[in-house]
Amino acid sequence: METFAMTIGGQPVQAARRFAVINPASGKAFAEVPAGDTTHLEAAVAAARAAFPAWSRMADSERRVLVHALAGVLESHMPELMLLVTKETGKPLGGLNGVGAGMEVGGAIAWTHVTADLSLPVEVIQDNAEARIEVHRKPLGVVGSITPWNWPLMIAIWHIMPALRAGNTVVLKPSELTPAATLRFGELAREVLPPGVLNVISAERDAGVGEAMASHPGIDKIVFTGSTPTGRRIMASAAGNLKRLTLELGGNDAGIVLPDVDPEEVAGKLFGVTFHNNGQTCACLKRLYVHDSLYEPLCQELARLAREAVVGDGLQAETQLGPVQNAKQMAYVAELVDDARARGARVLSGGRARAGGGYFYEPTVLADVSDGMRVVDEEQFGPVLPVIRYSDIDEVIRRANDNPNGLGGSIWSQDPGKAAELALRLECGTAWINEHGAIQPDAPFGGVKQSGIGVEFGRYGLEEYTTIQTLKIMKS
Ligand code: NAD
Repeated sequence: METFAMTIGGQPVQAARRFAVINPASGKAFAEVPAGDTTHLEAAVAAARAAFPAWSRMADSERRVLVHALAGVLESHMPELMLLVTKETGKPLGGLNGVGAGMEVGGAIAWTHVTADLSLPVEVIQDNAEARIEVHRKPLGVVGSITPWNWPLMIAIWHIMPALRAGNTVVLKPSELTPAATLRFGELAREVLPPGVLNVISAERDAGVGEAMASHPGIDKIVFTGSTPTGRRIMASAAGNLKRLTLELGGNDAGIVLPDVDPEEVAGKLFGVTFHNNGQTCACLKRLYVHDSLYEPLCQELARLAREAVVGDGLQAETQLGPVQNAKQMAYVAELVDDARARGARVLSGGRARAGGGYFYEPTVLADVSDGMRVVDEEQFGPVLPVIRYSDIDEVIRRANDNPNGLGGSIWSQDPGKAAELALRLECGTAWINEHGAIQPDAPFGGVKQSGIGVEFGRYGLEEYTTIQTLKIMKS
């Protein structure tokens, strides 16, 4: 059984007890991690506060070098980290269209390098005979990071790197379902960072560590990626010291296929952006609206691709789709599909769990579904695509927007100009044309409505880890 330590003040820390990390491909434990509690949180916050003055005053160029060095640590441990990610999330090493553990660790490396090279130059907004006014970006202090189970290492990196780059120190708590790769990264980062700059603590859900972070007076900002209900609770708990918040929450992204596309040509791409990582990505396509004129052929093509997808243990090279990450999530996915079936949906592929060990659910394409069914209105976060028929474009834009979520959306068409006009009418943080969910480290990404607050990535994302100080120097 593999074991990992927490990292507090640059030291490995164990707790009185450990808890098991389950491999969803087998349903069995493969690792044990410390069952931390609020005393570990107190120690981690104290260490982060103690490290903040020196880290924030360090020359910017030196911090840049150290963030690049963290990318180097990820690079030199890539195979080990990929194995951990596959074992704890179930996602394949390679995966459908290359979306798997290799992409997770590779993405973590790329994001780290790009973030290291970002800078926060002083902005001069007035410089005349009367005065010079400069706008400075200063770090906030201690950033608390809380991460989910779907892309645990990559999302941890998305939180840690801009926080450190801007001069903050960090206390991070990974999901109790997927703490292994993140704890391992914390161990590796000790070789690079001064003690206390990055602290990683693991805890079971009922230990209340996430809640304690959200309300902790020694934490200045929370960056949280996870579900919308948890985001709401964090926002309420954060009010005590007016914490800054970046919340990346749930999505229920709509894709709209216009009548001018060739169903056979577009099906492969649509299948990939829906089913990669088994649909367990915030910005996967989750509701597909297809024009009446090509509804049936596109549904059939998507169902064929779903039947042909290779589902299995992510450690096997040929696997495209792994298991659902946990038993509770699989039960939820099954509940939504059963509800749709009972309400008249046509199950064109899948529609059931696979017998044997692990949390495997067959890739499922549902036709004859409509808004008002749970599988359309709620975020399924699993290998299920509801395909909804439409005939009028204004009506379908209204239906796509008629949802509390607003993370991403897409339009599929041979006419990019017309598609872009429609995309700008979608209520979402990112809109894609003939693509969905494609993110990159220099373009801002975040949700509107109940999909979140704030953005990540690039200059806009980095600024979220800072506060503005205006400096006015009188000249006369
Ligand atoms: P979750 O909300 O159940 O848990 C996320 C984290 O919050 C875990 O670390 C958990 O321990 C912690 N937590 C739980 N209750 C808490 C509380 N009261 N206070 C503080 N922390 C608490 O989410 P999940 O099931 O792990 O992740 C799946 C969800 O994440 C989906 O809705 C998905 O869309 C969303 N997600 C969003 C993005 C994005 O960028 N918008 C990215 C990935 C995932």
